[in-house]
Amino acid sequence: MKTLVFAVEDEEDIARLLRYHLEAGGHQVRVFHRSAGVLAEAEQSPPGLFLLDIMLPGGSGLDLCRQIRHSRQLSHVPVIFLTARGSEADRVTGLEIGGDDYITKPFSPRELIARVRAVLRRFERPLQPARISAGEIEIDSGAMSVVVRGAPVITTATEFRLLEYLARHAGQVFTRDQLLDAVWRDRQYVTERSVDVYIRKLREKVEREPESPVYLRTVRGAGYRFEVPKSARA
Ligand code: CA
Repeated sequence: MKTLVFAVEDEEDIARLLRYHLEAGGHQVRVFHRSAGVLAEAEQSPPGLFLLDIMLPGGSGLDLCRQIRHSRQLSHVPVIFLTARGSEADRVTGLEIGGDDYITKPFSPRELIARVRAVLRRFERPLQPARISAGEIEIDSGAMSVVVRGAPVITTATEFRLLEYLARHAGQVFTRDQLLDAVWRDRQYVTERSVDVYIRKLREKVEREPESPVYLRTVRGAGYRFEVPKSARA
């Protein structure tokens, strides 16, 4: 099945390249040169993936990503950032505000297609519908929703998969490596560091005290384990 990709890129040459290579890779592409209007169009016909340039006229790709994450229809659509700035800080910022991956410009067609494929592959396998009740956290895998202490929490597609996986296997210790295999699936462009970034982000969303987590526990020298604290058990 063809995936509809929304590519938001103001540089004509790069936009043309994106369209050319993505179409050659079997995808359907809609190109936008500015961020205005993208959200409304996407809510009308939701794409399977967003490719967002960061520096855009009239509103950055980071702002657009925030809006996507807050949209009921779009919050779980994966986002890949295109960035000319390849510093570690920018990558981490992109991941923290809701990106699922990033591609540094200039990119090779091969890298573009491989990364798009990797992200799509991560989300192609539907989650088994289940409701997981873990203390103060309610996870609905069918609806892809998380409710913490009665309030809905917005997560990215990857954050959701990671939380769901850990909660589904509560009590079990996973190494970063195992989590990468289970949640990211394609290991080519992610590092163990990515797992830590996502865990930190999830702790901010579900823990009362992210610095002293009681659900998403670090197991020193091993990895992570999801636990339901005694105080929160029914
Ligand atoms: Ca730009």
